[in-house]
Amino acid sequence: MADNQAERLDNTPSSRSRFDKYRDDVREGKLPKGGSFHGPISNKPQVPRQRSAFGLVKSFLGLAGPHRWPIFFAMAMLTVSTVLGLLPPAVTKFVVDNVVGDDPMPQLATRIFGANTGRKEMLAWAVVGVFLISVVRLFLGVWGRWMATRSTKRIQLLVRKRVFEQAVRLPLNRVQEIRSGGVASILREDGGSVGDLVFGMLYNPWRAVVQLLGSLLVLAYVDWKLLLGAVILLPLVFFTHRTWISRIRPQFRQVRKQRENIDGQATEVFGGMRVVRAFARQRREGSRFMQENHYMARQELFVWWWSRIVELIWQTLIPASSAALLLYGGFQVLEGQLTLGQLVMFLVYLLMLLEPIAVLAQSATSFQNSLSGLDRVMDLLEEPREMPPGPDTIPVKRQNVAGAISFSNVNFTYPGAPEPALQDVDLEVQAGEIIALVGPSGAGKTTLCNLVARFYDPDSGNVKLDGRDLRDIDLDSYRSLLGVVEQDVFLFDGSVGANIAYSRPEASVEELRRASEMANALEFIERMPEGFNTVIGERGVKLSGGQRQRVAIARAILADPRILILDEATSNLDTESERLIQASLEELMQNRTSFVIAHRLSTISHANRILVIDHGRIIQSGTHNELMASGGRYREMVELQTSMQRPVGTGTAE
Ligand code: ADP
Repeated sequence: MADNQAERLDNTPSSRSRFDKYRDDVREGKLPKGGSFHGPISNKPQVPRQRSAFGLVKSFLGLAGPHRWPIFFAMAMLTVSTVLGLLPPAVTKFVVDNVVGDDPMPQLATRIFGANTGRKEMLAWAVVGVFLISVVRLFLGVWGRWMATRSTKRIQLLVRKRVFEQAVRLPLNRVQEIRSGGVASILREDGGSVGDLVFGMLYNPWRAVVQLLGSLLVLAYVDWKLLLGAVILLPLVFFTHRTWISRIRPQFRQVRKQRENIDGQATEVFGGMRVVRAFARQRREGSRFMQENHYMARQELFVWWWSRIVELIWQTLIPASSAALLLYGGFQVLEGQLTLGQLVMFLVYLLMLLEPIAVLAQSATSFQNSLSGLDRVMDLLEEPREMPPGPDTIPVKRQNVAGAISFSNVNFTYPGAPEPALQDVDLEVQAGEIIALVGPSGAGKTTLCNLVARFYDPDSGNVKLDGRDLRDIDLDSYRSLLGVVEQDVFLFDGSVGANIAYSRPEASVEELRRASEMANALEFIERMPEGFNTVIGERGVKLSGGQRQRVAIARAILADPRILILDEATSNLDTESERLIQASLEELMQNRTSFVIAHRLSTISHANRILVIDHGRIIQSGTHNELMASGGRYREMVELQTSMQRPVGTGTAE
């Protein structure tokens, strides 16, 4: 029975069957065209949202910020160089018909060269002219391309910066939903692809438009019937493109979403490598990773076919139209309506007309892919940030803060959770008071501290600092008053010193040493090979549990917070470490409003008040002696823990 259960929990559908469903959705046009949020679909209502092409261009220019000017400049260079590129075929025609051939000189030529210039001399001038035009054109073209390429990189930087700033300010539950690897994926893949739009959305299409209009104008000037042919082509291109885009971009979005998912999952596996190893789940994690990758590969191969179909259509149009023109032009020449030079020129212009279309067709797929990246970046940027400041928010100054915290009638339910985590909480905490929170696990102790740290806002009621609602205080200025030491100490890869100074990077070495000394950390730090400069590995793997905790305490002491939150985790340490940590914690709590989540009741003797929490409510409150005297939940808990700690056998001997 237990085995069956385990198997069922493990069984995700195969990539094949998931893909079959996905393919049906694509065929029936059921993929979300927009509004698919990052991360797993939460219980948030899905806002159907599709950005129009125009909207996307606008968002892109908005994101590009100051870098749009170099792009416009690049496009101006491009325009000039493309128009210059239209001249050589006309000169070629002039050479073939008028210089080498027998046609009379056009007026323009006689005006430029004078009536008496010899044909050979004219030929030389024409060649030199074409050469010079080509050189200038090349120079301008490269210059424009350079400006555009530089803008691509700069826009990538800017977009990554904005995505990063946004992601670190999203509400905590959203960050947890997207997962760290998922955010990394958006930063790298989607953020990078937005820069590519400089070419995909502006540069290449603009080149196509200029070249197309230019060649059309010349063709129309020579024979308007040719224009008719070209004009028939355009709507065809336009409509295949439109119907196709509405199908293909949602698919690219799905592929990117799947990549975000895979990245999130892989990062998680490596973050939890010890657990993976401990339970020998490497093979299972590997196959889960491959299953998701297979699914993505199937999605990618499927979208490959969709991309090729439109390309094939366009690419058959190109030889078909040049064949048609050759046929038409050939007849005209045979009938004496068109000169040979004109026909050659026609064919060159036709190629010029079709070439940009071919380039667009080829880059259209990657363009749609980049566009779906922009779409996803915009999705993320449009998500509401964590607690945006209201009109009445003011920053607080440390020296003006006493540190009294009050809860009045607070109710709170985690987003998506079925039951409230805190109910009707009323609490007055004086400045400098030490409050211990006890209660069974899942009671709501951490949640209460989360509201003090303003990781979340209450659903109803309010939390106040010195009588001012936290919602009216600037978040960053409030958090700078706060120190949090959690059970699960998080250290960054880097030196011990840098980790301690994380809370106040400008601190002097002397301050760093003093804080470490107060936290009882100085001794072991000085024993390490490079002292404060010793690198401690990802998440501080090279330190013991007790050492990590003391580093975290030193970090909090250095920050000198007004309000302190301690998730006391001394239960898994040896007695010596525990004694050291207890001493450093008491040092830390001096003169600060402190909330201590106590796992061991023996450690909270120094608390001014103890709150017993159960099912999200404060059920008892008072000092240790008061609570012991009045009986009830607290006394039961103390008695239970004392009996568990008594050495085996003592009980019966008494
Ligand atoms: P304690 O710290 O007392 O062990 P918590 O405050 O962490 O308890 O949790 C209180 C309740 O809220 C529990 O039922 C828990 O399942 C739930 N909870 C905690 N964190 C979240 C979260 N991020 N999302 C949804 N529910 C949560």
